[in-house]
Amino acid sequence: MNEDQVLTPESVQSEIRRTRHRAELPMYAITIVLGIIAAIILYIYTFNDSGALEQIKDVMAGENIIESSEEYQSIFTILVAFVSMVGGVGIAVIYVVTYLVGSYKLYASRMCYGIRVSEKNYPEIYAKVKEFTELLGLKKEPEVYVQQSNGSVNAFASWAPGRTFIQLNAEVVDLGYMENKDFDTVAFIMAHEFGHIYFHHVHMHYRIWTTLIGYVPIVGAMIISPLYSRSKEYTADRVAQALTGGKNQVEGMKLLCAGRHGYKYIDIQDYLENANQNYNILEKIARFVINMMASHPVTPYRIAAIMDETKKNGKLL
Ligand SMILES: [Zn+2]
Repeated sequence: MNEDQVLTPESVQSEIRRTRHRAELPMYAITIVLGIIAAIILYIYTFNDSGALEQIKDVMAGENIIESSEEYQSIFTILVAFVSMVGGVGIAVIYVVTYLVGSYKLYASRMCYGIRVSEKNYPEIYAKVKEFTELLGLKKEPEVYVQQSNGSVNAFASWAPGRTFIQLNAEVVDLGYMENKDFDTVAFIMAHEFGHIYFHHVHMHYRIWTTLIGYVPIVGAMIISPLYSRSKEYTADRVAQALTGGKNQVEGMKLLCAGRHGYKYIDIQDYLENANQNYNILEKIARFVINMMASHPVTPYRIAAIMDETKKNGKLL
């Protein structure tokens, strides 16, 4: 996309429809199937001879007193078993309620410790919040909070009942106020989070399945879950490109590598040449494994996808 192009809701939304990562929806389907398998396994675990239900009966019979926190992994397991005595739906009910409480707790923490971006606080960022909301045609503006995070250069989007919200770590927002006055990079990073919100990555119906497959050893937890996550990250990067016209699209990636002060001095071509040198087989396997287990694509892959003018999909493996 040309940086000088005038962005309209129509142009941005038609661009985004073309650029969703091709693996994302197939991965979502696989995640749902694995999630259902995980739910069945959890159900069986609760009711089998040595499962949570039996453990509770033992406790009730006074045969097995809890002596340490490890002995019963969590109160959650016990709650699941209790409700399951009333009916199998108990597992689902407890799971959803626990999820809702957890998501609201995350939101409440932003309310308690973060600073809400508004017309008075961080007005440059708030202007972008309004602009991105309009360009994406979102019905409701996400709440954006700035929070000091002990030096971590990061941001995330999430959902709580009735709202979506974004946290920009203060370390990211500082870019706008430090020596480079770089609000464009802040905007690109925030636009990426808008991408997650636009495609509902943060909503309950997505998150429940991704949490469930964490219970499927190796295939679910270590292969499918991170792979699916990487496809969503590529999608969110594409949304950020569409929303910002690609302005400062590489700066955010340089920031991840070099930090807040030095990132402007990184020569991206030299970085990529070194990152893409001819590795020997052991080095190739090592990078493959690191990428395979990562929730975000390794940086050279992510930069390559962002800089690819043909807008082909990013490399997942
Ligand atoms: Zn992301």
